Amino acid sequence: MGIEEKLPSGFLLTTVEKAAGWARKNSLWPATFGLACCAIEMMATGTSRYDLARFGMERFSATPRQADLMIVAGRVSQKMAPVLRQVYDQMANPKWVISMGVCASSGGMFNNYAVVQGVDHVIPVDMYLPGCPPRPEMLLDSILKLHDKIQREKLGIHRAQAVEEAERDRLRALPIASQQELTP
Ligand code: SF4
Repeated sequence: MGIEEKLPSGFLLTTVEKAAGWARKNSLWPATFGLACCAIEMMATGTSRYDLARFGMERFSATPRQADLMIVAGRVSQKMAPVLRQVYDQMANPKWVISMGVCASSGGMFNNYAVVQGVDHVIPVDMYLPGCPPRPEMLLDSILKLHDKIQREKLGIHRAQAVEEAERDRLRALPIASQQELTP
């Protein structure tokens, strides 16, 4: 992503990781991306009753270049999928995605040819939020969980080690027969 990725392992990298995580989680700006009924709950989250401004996130950006969080609120139609991907590609790095509601996460009740059966077919998702529709409190909860995730994100060599460990855990969780097939 940036120069922090080149830092050697050790005290400096750990310190930069903590500082970068803290700065990133406290400066999230969502992109405006309401697609269906879930978007009403997302808008409600920005009102004074739920007060998204507590986290400095009330400013929904109308341009992807000034946003680093996409909240996919609602079902994604096949026609909208390429637009969604383009907006995601134009967002600033590093960026995160919350899939809000069952429709965005899996197509929900719209099991048909017109709706994408899960937005993770189009873009990577960091947090899945269940419900139809999820209440603003649930969206706030998923945002706080995403904050935790961002704070714990590894950089540089630490990231490579974390990816290796995750892959090992994934293989260990597979049935024995599949493990033997996959192990070189
Ligand atoms: S999950 Fe429910 S509220 Fe959200 S877009 Fe689908 S039908 Fe609408």
